[in-house]
Amino acid sequence: MAEIRLDHVSKRYIEDRRSVYALKDVSLTVEQGEFVFLIGSSGAGKSTLLRLMCGDLSPDEGTVFLNNANLNRMIGPWRVRATRTFGIVSQQGTLIRKRTIGDNLMLAANAAGLRRKSQEAVKKALGIVGLPGVEACYPAELSIGESRRVELARAVLNSPSILLLDELTGNMDDDVIWDLLHLLSELNSRGTTIIMATHASQYVNIMRRRVVTLVDGRVAGDVKNGKYGDLK
Ligand code: ADP
Repeated sequence: MAEIRLDHVSKRYIEDRRSVYALKDVSLTVEQGEFVFLIGSSGAGKSTLLRLMCGDLSPDEGTVFLNNANLNRMIGPWRVRATRTFGIVSQQGTLIRKRTIGDNLMLAANAAGLRRKSQEAVKKALGIVGLPGVEACYPAELSIGESRRVELARAVLNSPSILLLDELTGNMDDDVIWDLLHLLSELNSRGTTIIMATHASQYVNIMRRRVVTLVDGRVAGDVKNGKYGDLK
């Protein structure tokens, strides 16, 4: 079980020697088992929010809690356990180009502490995302959509409680996107929290899940069973 809570969180970046808010006073709770679409135009703060949720970034103001503990103050084994709570697909591809898909996933499986179960977990995860048998390929041999699916396979290797997905469905064909959304719904129905930043309004509108809308770094809408653009 893992609950994420952001309490009056702000994040600033330095741009042109000025400190600019990417997120401003965001308070939000996501409970275990929720499916959340995070929407907003480019630059609204979606990636920043996802990176704060998993502790990849620290807030400048406010606090991010994982199960009521301050995520950014966790150290040692607590930090490791917190890290393993999350499966992450970032916006930028992060596969190592000079290593095969199998190697890429084995590295992640070992880092996740799967040890002797690594090989089996890699095979299973690639099967789950509909890419069985691509272990010997290099990232450059796959389409962008296939690479994203490999990254999703890597994210689900150790069955994390929470999946944070940043623009997972960009550059994918419709039928592949539907297959992935079906897979994510299935993982969600078995208890995995899904938080997904996306621009894909048509899928958001059909799925009717919680929709959190960011505008200029603030939460402008948070709607259960929402549609794209719903603000309350
Ligand atoms: P989104 O994911 O919704 O496109 P981001 O979280 O990537 O939004 O960005 C929010 C704002 O923060 C944007 O104005 C962006 O330019 C700025 N930003 C993001 N990352 C950095 C960074 N590393 N350095 C400076 N500014 C950044």
